[in-house]
This record gives sequence, structure tokens and C-alpha cells, in this order.
Amino acid sequence: MTELPYRYEAPVSQTLFDRASLVTPGGVNSPVRAFRAVGGTPRFMVSGTGPYLTDADGREYVDLVCSWGPMILGHSHPEVIAAVQEAVARGTSFGTPGEGEVALAEEIVARVEPVEQVRLVSSGTEATMSAIRLARGFTGRAKIVKFAGCYHGHVDALLAAAGSGLATFGLPDTPGVTGAQAGDTIVLPYNDLEAVRAAFAAQPGEIACVITEASPGNMGVVPPLDGFNAGLKEICAANGALYISDEVMTGFRTSKAGWFGIDGVRPDLMTFGKVMGGGFPAAAFGGRADVMAHLAPVGPVYQAGTLSGNPVATAAGLAQLRLLDDAAYAKVDAVSAEIRGLVSQALDKEGVAHTVQAASNMFSVFFTDRPVRDYDDAKQQEAFRFTAFFHSMLAQGVYLPPSAFESWFVSTAHDTRAVERIAAALPAAARAASEATA
Ligand SMILES: *Cc1c(COP(=O)(O)O)cnc(C)c1O
Repeated sequence: MTELPYRYEAPVSQTLFDRASLVTPGGVNSPVRAFRAVGGTPRFMVSGTGPYLTDADGREYVDLVCSWGPMILGHSHPEVIAAVQEAVARGTSFGTPGEGEVALAEEIVARVEPVEQVRLVSSGTEATMSAIRLARGFTGRAKIVKFAGCYHGHVDALLAAAGSGLATFGLPDTPGVTGAQAGDTIVLPYNDLEAVRAAFAAQPGEIACVITEASPGNMGVVPPLDGFNAGLKEICAANGALYISDEVMTGFRTSKAGWFGIDGVRPDLMTFGKVMGGGFPAAAFGGRADVMAHLAPVGPVYQAGTLSGNPVATAAGLAQLRLLDDAAYAKVDAVSAEIRGLVSQALDKEGVAHTVQAASNMFSVFFTDRPVRDYDDAKQQEAFRFTAFFHSMLAQGVYLPPSAFESWFVSTAHDTRAVERIAAALPAAARAASEATA
């Protein structure tokens, strides 16, 4: 990485990063955090309040990552913290059933109509992995369809042309996943129903399921074209395959009922994570009761978890979901629209080609003037402009996702003061983007 003029010092973060790099590969526990795509020193955060994060050097940032989506009420929301404190005082894990997990499951079932039954797990990765296993167990078929640029966690079979960290690093695949593990995965271009029809026609009776991000956010925000999800559902139904909607990112974020609340296409199975954990490791998969009945202990498909339904995590998730009423979503949607407008204005002013794409309050800024409909389109953008833009914003106290292939996230806590700080940082960042060279 060449020296960037707008680099600035972060000595405490740098010291922590040096220490981390000795004991942890790349110094991080999840790759995108390492700033590899944008260069520079990852900021080690020490606290968060409302829309702000404070790093180890004592600098405050307006946070537009929100822990990659979960912190939809902002950091340290008093009611979520109180629920956690109350739960933690009663003990942290029992390895038995508890009321908190029942209440969280009831809340999910009440909000998302296609979910008749739900099983709690600890990460989105576990949720999609288990949903795929269940779909294979239910249908007795091996093959699965996924879309290029869609990320479903680091499940072996789903790490083929995945987005997120893999989009950032441009790895089409990863060593460690065997041909056998990925061999039953059919990867198709996103938003292309003809490709899906052709795949089913070529492999009659072999495809267990189609898994798709309900509205993709892991190649940047690339919403489904009108009728795409409905078409997937129809093709699956006609061919005896299950339609799995991965709502780990969109669930309880894009509306009260996630993306299902927006497009109304009824999946056979759904996966959740991020927002439903309230900042703790809690995730879930659920859907049709007749399919879920194939899961152990009632059915033969095995699935389990030592910390599944953890009482502290479920208390945090439940407290957060209960605060997420229509007014909360209206607020997040409004502040998202406001920030999108400001970013676009600033870039227009400097003549920087860009396309802002949104899925309700999730959005991202592509440095291209063409609409982005799939992963190939996303890769056409001038990502070097994002790098310049990112560092300028960071230097001015605005924390963006450290990659051009990620969604930006806001919360109910992003108030006028936070928006003003973003607005004040944008002109210089837009200029940096315009002056950047590949
Ligand atoms: C984040 C994400 C996952 C993986 O969830 P983890 O909790 O990181 O394992 C799966 N699917 C989608 C759509 C995601 O955004």
C-alpha cells in the first residue's frame, strides 16, 4: 500500500494491532476488520454510546457500521443493557431450556409470518449451515444453488463465489474447502432467473434448495429486481426444492418482519442473526413446521449447540426486538435516506461517478455511474476512490465499513448532531475520492 496523504497516527491502536498480530493471524478475528482492502491501521474500539464509537487513542467516530448491522438501536442502549445486566445476574449458561429462548422464539414467530417454528443457534453461519443440512435431509437431494456475491457465512459448501470478506479479497474460493464439499454447490449470477431455470432443467430432481440473501448486502447493497425472489420461490415450488431466504443481515433490520415484510415472498426456510442478538451471539433458522419437524430430537436431521439459546444473548435480543416498533424503523429509514442524499450531493459536487443503492435503510455507495445488479457489476466500480473516501472520512471522525463491498448501517441513535458531523466530513472526502488515482 502506498503512503496516503490523509493518513494520520493511531499509536495506541497500532500498538494493539502489533500485539494482536503476534498471537492472532492478521491481528483480527474476522478478516474485513483488518483494513486490508483500504490499508492503514485498524482502529481498536474501547466503547460505544448511541451513534458513536471511541477508539483506544481516545478519538470519537460516528459509526456507520453498527457492528455490521446488529446495533440498530445504537450502542449501549439503556434498556438493552439493563436486560443484559438483569439476565447476567441470574447466571450465564445452564445447558437446559429457559424461558428467555421461548420468548425470543415467540417474538420471531409473531413477527415473521412464514416462520412457524424456529431453532436458535449462535451465529449466522450456523443458521445457514443447519438450514442447508435440513433442506438436504428433507428433500433427500444433494445439490444446492447459491448466487455469486451472496455471503451466507463461512459454511464450506457456501464458500463458492461468496461476497463480504471474499469479495474484498477477490478470492473466488478458499483453500480448505474440498471439491466434494463445494462440488454440490451450483453458483449462478444474481438477479438472473433464466440461469436458475436452466440449472433446474439440467439437473432434474437433484437440487435440494436455492439459498439467497433476501436482499443482498455482502457485495454492497444489490436489491433483487422486481419479481426475482417471487420467481425463485415459484421455480423451487415447481421442482420440489426449498426456497431458503437468508435474512441474517436484513432480518429485523429492513422492517419489523425483515425483507419478507417488504416483498412478501414466502420462503420455506429463513435464517436470522445480527439484529436478533442485540449485539450478542444469537441467530436462528426457521420456517415451515413440516420441514422443521425433520430436525432432532423430533426428526432425524441432527443439529445442536452448547450455548444455543444462551440466556444473556436471548435477553439482549428480546429487549432489542421489543423496542423495534414501526416508529423505530421509520426513524432509521429516514436517517438513512438523509445520509444517502448528503453523500450523493457531495460526490456530485466533485463530479465523482457513483451509484447509491438502498434496501430500506441498508445502503452502499458504488463508485460507478451504472446500476449494480450482480457481483460482476459490483466489481466494475472504481474501488480505489472508495479507499480515498474512506480514509478521509476516518480522519474526520466517521467510521465507514473498511471495504467498498459492504453495506453501511445506521441506527435510531443517529441524531441531528451525528448527521451534521457526517455532512461536515463529506466535502473533503468527496474531493479525496475525485483526486484519487488507481
Ligand atoms: C453476516 C451474515 C452471515 C453470517 O453470520 P455470522 O454471524 O457472521 O456467522 C450469513 N448470511 C448473511 C446474509 C450475513 O450477512
